This record gives sequence, structure tokens and C-alpha cells, in this order.
Amino acid sequence: MNSPKMLSHFIDGEPQAPASGRWLDDVNPATGEVHALIARGDAEDVDRAAAAAKAALRGPWSQWTAERRAELLEQIAAGIEARIDEFAEAESQDQGKPVSLARRMDIPRAIQNFRFFASALRAESLGAHPTLGVLNYTARRPLGVVGLITPWNLPLYLLTWKTAPALAMGNTVVAKPSELTPWTASLLAEVIQAAGAPRGVFNLVHGLGAEVGQALVEHPDVVGLSFTGGTVTGRRLAATAAPMLKKLSLELGGKNATLVFADADFDQAVEGACRAAFLNQGEICLCGSRILVERPIYDRFVAALTEKVKALRVGDPADPTTDLGALISQEHRAKVEGYLRLAVEEGGTILCGGERPNLPAPHDAGAFLTPALVSGLAPTCRTATEEIFGPVATIHPFDTEDEAITLNNLTRYGLSASIWTEGLRRAHRVAEALDVGLVWVNTWMLRDLRVPFGGVKDSGVGREGGAHSFEFFSEAKNICVKL
Ligand code: NDP
Repeated sequence: MNSPKMLSHFIDGEPQAPASGRWLDDVNPATGEVHALIARGDAEDVDRAAAAAKAALRGPWSQWTAERRAELLEQIAAGIEARIDEFAEAESQDQGKPVSLARRMDIPRAIQNFRFFASALRAESLGAHPTLGVLNYTARRPLGVVGLITPWNLPLYLLTWKTAPALAMGNTVVAKPSELTPWTASLLAEVIQAAGAPRGVFNLVHGLGAEVGQALVEHPDVVGLSFTGGTVTGRRLAATAAPMLKKLSLELGGKNATLVFADADFDQAVEGACRAAFLNQGEICLCGSRILVERPIYDRFVAALTEKVKALRVGDPADPTTDLGALISQEHRAKVEGYLRLAVEEGGTILCGGERPNLPAPHDAGAFLTPALVSGLAPTCRTATEEIFGPVATIHPFDTEDEAITLNNLTRYGLSASIWTEGLRRAHRVAEALDVGLVWVNTWMLRDLRVPFGGVKDSGVGREGGAHSFEFFSEAKNICVKL
């Protein structure tokens, strides 16, 4: 038998074993097999990483020009691109998602994150406020050592979304990916080193949230934290970091609505609602898991969507025809199934899905679940308002535009929404009225990396993307000169 891969920390330019000598299992959720061992980090490892990152801030990195940092980001992008198949395979084996999805979405987006922030850095200009005899101008400096904490659903996509602007602004990084999906973060560390980053500029500490994540949040030398994850964790993180006056960006959960008006392009809306609900097994913070449909087309829409959902193929993530792979873990599948039982208790009808598919070995041991559509629920019930983060969507009728807006706004979340209508004025009116950070009209998850990304209410604090990321990962300094 081959000895398992060992995913070490990456500290001060080299792989490092955990101080504790302990390792965690890295499980492939599609087969239940342990395919790697992960360093189980603790506060001592975080301390070593933070020290390396702090020392690197004073080293040659501090003398790098913006142009040189932009070139580094491009080298990193090229390094990932050269190993794209390896990255896609690793992401799928850690996360359960189809390899084809990782190959066309996650890994290309990681590459794009580095290329985008390289060009944004080159195009950046800062403000000046001249007046007679006085010039005020804005300069930027890096924050310092920043902590990046990322979830398991889009592992490399989200880690690079933070790493690229953090490095662009001249910071040094200590990253903590989810221990469920550590592999592509380790590959990224190799690529960053090979691209020529000075040692200590990018450090990676693997391990559990309660051990590594908490130590990173508490570390006095980590001055900024960008976190993507659940709302409960985000709140805990803020409670620790706020009294220490750390800069915080929190991208948290969502329970997003897809609002379909009777005048929508019917086929496009069915297609869009299906994709928004179930892409990546429904494990995306932006997923449209609350589908609101105007009454005149409700029955027809439910029938068409049910057919479409039934046709989605669940199974072997390596099969290019697979639409949905495995959920992240057996525990997560059990949680999602618990919500389906709750849906029935709350009076819902499961129109399709919610079953464990019969798959041949080795996938018979995987955390698979067929995508489920539930109707007949009150839009205020728990199933329809709590984040399930899996392949479950609820569908509800509405009668008026005002009612649709009210239904959208009644959850505690406020990340995104998608509106499907051919009415130009209505689209703008409804978009303005929704309590969310992002609205799509007649599309979903169409991303331009320049735009502000983030949520309101329990979906988070702050915005990332383009200039917003640069603002987060730097301190603006005003310099006033009397001429
Ligand atoms: P969690 O909040 O459980 O974990 C996120 C990260 O935080 C993980 O690396 C986790 O480590 C770590 N962590 C856990 N506890 C602590 C702690 N006390 N201190 C510091 N770090 C800690 O989220 P999930 O990984 O379960 O991801 C799913 C969630 O992420 C969903 O709620 C989803 O909506 C949200 N999300 C939000 C997005 C957005 O942009 N708004 C995008 C994608 C996901 P560990 O895994 O070891 O516990």
C-alpha cells in the first residue's frame, strides 16, 4: 500500500511538521477513504507562522515595487495553470464536487483571481486633494500580517480571492483553510514559493478551527482578518477580534431568493433557478435555495423545475457527465437530511430528491444525496429561512411585487438575490428594495471581480472585490504638504 500523502504546514518558505506531532485524516467524501494526513496545527504553529510573516514584512519584500508584486501574482497564476488538472483532481477528491466543475469553475477562477489583482494593482491610482498652497494626497501602506480563514465549499477559489489582494498590497499572510479541504492550499503554497515569493510572505497552518483558527484570531501580531464561513463562527471571531481592534472582513452565510415574475423568460428562469439552487451540490453561499414564483405561472414552473431537477445526475465526481458530486461529509449529509425531515414536519411536500442514490463501490460509501425540491411550506418556517447549505430548495408562490420583496427580506440573511423578469422598470425597482448585498437580474453568479462583494444583516460585514479588497488589505495615509 502507498503511504498516504502528508500535508504539512508551510512556514517560512518550507514545509514544516506540526509542533504537536499530531495529524488528522483527510477524507475523500465521495468514497470515505482517507487519502492524506493533515498536520494538526496548534497555537505554537500559529506563533511560528506569525513570527515568519512578521520577519518577512521587514525583509526584502518591503522593498518590492508594485510592479514586481504584480509580476509575482502573474507567476502564481501561471504556476496554477500549468498544474490545472492536478489542482482540479485534488479539489474534487477533498471536497466531493465533480472534477469537471473544479476544472471549469474553481481552478480557473483561482487563476483569474491572481491575474485580476495583478492588473488592478497596475491600474491603481490614489487620490489627491490640492488647494491653494496646500496639497493633501493619499498614500497606502500594507496592514501587516493578515490572517485568512476560509471554508470548505470553494476552497482554492476563496483562499486565492483573499491571498491575491493581500499580497498585492504588500502584506504577509498566515492562511488557515478548512481542515476538510486542505489539499489545494498546500499545492498553492508550493506554487507561491516556486513563483519567487520571499520566505515568510505566505504561510499556511493546517488544522481545526477551534485550535488553529482561534489562535490565529487571538494572535497579537495578526492585525487583520479576512474570514469566509458560517455566521456563528463569524460572530465568535468578531467577539475575539473586535476588542483587539483588528480590521475584519466577514463574508458569512446566506439564504438567497430566486424571484421569478410571470413575465420572465420561462425556460431561462427554470434553467437559472435550477443552476442557482444546486450548483456545487448547493454548497455555495450564493445559492438560491428559496424560490419565489408569481402565482399565475407557479404550477407550470413547479412542474418544469421538478423535471429538470430529477434529470440532474448524481454520482462519481470523476465522470464528466456528473452534475452533483458528494456532499462534504457524512455529518453534513446527516444535517441536510435532518432539514428534509423537518420540512415534512413543517407541512412540506418533497417533490423530488432527498434520497441516498444507489451507487457502485467505491461510491456506495460516499456522502451523496439527490437534489430535493420542497413545496407547500410557509415561507417563514425554519426550512425556508435557515441556511441548509446543501442540495435542498424550497419553492413558494407570491401574488404581488410587494409580497415578493417582503418574502425576500424576512430572513435574517442578506447576501444575494436573483430576479427573473422581462420588465425593465420592475427589475430595477425590486433590485433597489431587496435587503441584500448583491442582486442579479436574469442571471445568477455572473461575477465581475471589480464589483463590491459581500452581504448585509447576518451575511456579513464589509466588502471585498477590486478596490474594496485593496482598501481592506491596506491602510490609507493622508499626507498634507504646505507648499
Ligand atoms: P465555518 O464557519 O464552520 O468555518 C469556516 C472556517 O473557519 C474554517 O476554516 C473553520 O475551520 C474556521 N473556524 C472554525 N471555528 C473557528 C474559530 N473559533 N476561530 C477561527 N476560525 C474558525 O464554515 P464552513 O467551513 O462550514 O463553511 C460553510 C459556511 O461558509 C456556510 O455558512 C456558508 O454560507 C459560508 N460561506 C460564505 C461565503 C460568503 O462569501 N459569504 C462563501 C462561502 C461560504 P474548521 O473547518 O477547521 O472548523
